[in-house]
Amino acid sequence: MNRFRPEEVIVESGAEKGSIYRNLRHALPDVPFIFTPQLSDHLGKSEFSEGPQLLAPGDFGAAKRRLFLQRHRGEFLKKCPGSDGQVCCNYFVINFASNCPMDCSYCYLQDYLASNPALKVFTNVEDLIAEAGDLLGRHRKFFFRIGTGEITDSLALDPYIGFSAEIVPFFADQPNALLELKTKSDCVDDLLRLDPKERIVVSWSMNPQRVIDADEHGTASLEERIAAARRCQAAGYKLGFHFDPMIEYDGWEADYRDMVGRLFAAVDFRRIAWISMGVLRATPALKRAMRMRFPTSRLPTGEQILCPDGKLRYFQPLRVAMYRKMLGWIRAAAPTVFVYLCMESREVWQQVFGFVPACEKELGNQMTESPTL
Ligand code: SF4
Repeated sequence: MNRFRPEEVIVESGAEKGSIYRNLRHALPDVPFIFTPQLSDHLGKSEFSEGPQLLAPGDFGAAKRRLFLQRHRGEFLKKCPGSDGQVCCNYFVINFASNCPMDCSYCYLQDYLASNPALKVFTNVEDLIAEAGDLLGRHRKFFFRIGTGEITDSLALDPYIGFSAEIVPFFADQPNALLELKTKSDCVDDLLRLDPKERIVVSWSMNPQRVIDADEHGTASLEERIAAARRCQAAGYKLGFHFDPMIEYDGWEADYRDMVGRLFAAVDFRRIAWISMGVLRATPALKRAMRMRFPTSRLPTGEQILCPDGKLRYFQPLRVAMYRKMLGWIRAAAPTVFVYLCMESREVWQQVFGFVPACEKELGNQMTESPTL
């Protein structure tokens, strides 16, 4: 994997306290660190600011070349927003960072973070842990599934910031939570030194190498992802896999089938907590951003229709056919593994699985009652 390396690290006052900053300095001795009282002075947000404007609004590519450190001022933990009218899986997210050092052509952050694209890490991990401890402690009868990969990749920055070494020991000791670390990287070295105590799921977004080469820039190869999953499995972690976004193209069936075969030949399906499937989806604004930033990508050229949640997807019959095929290949190799659909309608659930979860709690409960857990 071609590791991201920031050109500079911009540090807002107060963010230099704590392990994230120390780890970065240690890992990147040759990278310049710039200190500033206010990050906004450097983000091109204020026409009156005096600092150098390092990042013009909307310059998404430039945003990924620098790393900004800041203390987070709001809440770290939020309920996953899901997508209007789609079946939701009752998931919570921790936003310890914003934006991602990798650069997938279809990444929804190009739309979601368009007005605030800086690649930021929030350094007050002690506040994050206090907030999570308070929430989990107040609701011991509720079982939480929590992920850190909503608006960033959970592990891509880990070799520099050492974030997993801070939170894995905390979540490993929680009786009513599973923490999911979701990635397209192979940055698992730090995880291997920790004891997950059956409370941590490391998961990978999976696509055939052809899709990785064309549209998942700066990510680990398929073989590297599978090798990293094997190492995590050997270290006692549960695994997760997200076949998402599935892309339809000439020959997709052979590629996806081959990928499923290679994956299950390498990992023990009994250690898999969950698998999700989802097809390529994009808002019209994301499609425009994809065309502008990745003019050679074929993804925005396929036929898609606008769904009630405002996202463009393949026609429903095609989606159902793709899911059924994938589900068949998965089931043949891993008969008991829990499989769900991400951001799909009740009609599609019914056609693929023959049932629809009654509510988000039911789906969440099914996931935490999977035979692996
Ligand atoms: S790895 Fe995920 S968060 Fe990062 S660019 Fe790709 S889709 Fe976006």
